[in-house]
Amino acid sequence: MPISGELRQSARECLARARELIARNQEAATRYACLELRQAIEYLAYQQLDAYLDEVPDDAMRKWTPRDVIAQMLTVDPTADKTASVSVGVEQVYGQPAAGMETLGEDRRFTLKWANRSHNALGSFLHAPTLHQFETGNVPDHGAMREKAEEVAAVIDHTLASPIYNANFGEFYEIDCVCGRRFKRRAGSFTAQQGIVCPNTNCRTIWDVASEKGTRIELRPRQTEYVCPSCKGTRYLLNHKIKAGGVIVCDCGGRAEICLSLSPFEEDASSPESAP
Ligand SMILES: [Zn+2]
Ligand SMILES: [Zn+2]
Repeated sequence: MPISGELRQSARECLARARELIARNQEAATRYACLELRQAIEYLAYQQLDAYLDEVPDDAMRKWTPRDVIAQMLTVDPTADKTASVSVGVEQVYGQPAAGMETLGEDRRFTLKWANRSHNALGSFLHAPTLHQFETGNVPDHGAMREKAEEVAAVIDHTLASPIYNANFGEFYEIDCVCGRRFKRRAGSFTAQQGIVCPNTNCRTIWDVASEKGTRIELRPRQTEYVCPSCKGTRYLLNHKIKAGGVIVCDCGGRAEICLSLSPFEEDASSPESAP
């Protein structure tokens, strides 16, 4: 898989080709420039996602539109599509900001809104005008296409000009999952009800923060206690594996099938569910 630096390089090459095509000042060449710029936006979105691969679900890598890619990052970091300036300084007192901070530069990112709008606008020039556009006289002209291409090229240029990228700071929970995967999740990016879900699509174990005392954090997989019908021993089943028809095998070798059942409704139940 290409690393961030290679993805940036690909974006840079797209931009260089786009610039050369725009400079020809011919409609057909500008159209090809729009295609190159669309790819540059895609490469930069993938490069940003690269900083979040330990946090987002595995299927995030299958997403390809900048809108979907950036949306994945936003679910784990609400500031994922914001430019941030990065500074360093020596902390004299633990927990207190350093007296002197040295600015290293900016990690420049485009917003989900800009990426989506620009990707779509460039895409609209790659198709033959619709009959409706002909009829209403709204056929995009070369001037509009060129203007959009130049505007997008300037933003990509600005993004690529910064030597800093993929800064990802935060407080993280690190989890060694039951499936063998080590992953992390940013504190505050999930609710107690959601828990922390393993990004491995074949696992999806839900982890709960069982206790948190200062830097000592205990995480537990969400599970349910049950009694094995064969050996009558107390066992635990991971909650996400509780599905009707599933078969569980106990240490004793006994097999049990998970069944749905109905029980009489009790009036004093704390959270009654209304019938549809
Ligand atoms: Zn897992
Ligand atoms: Zn058993």
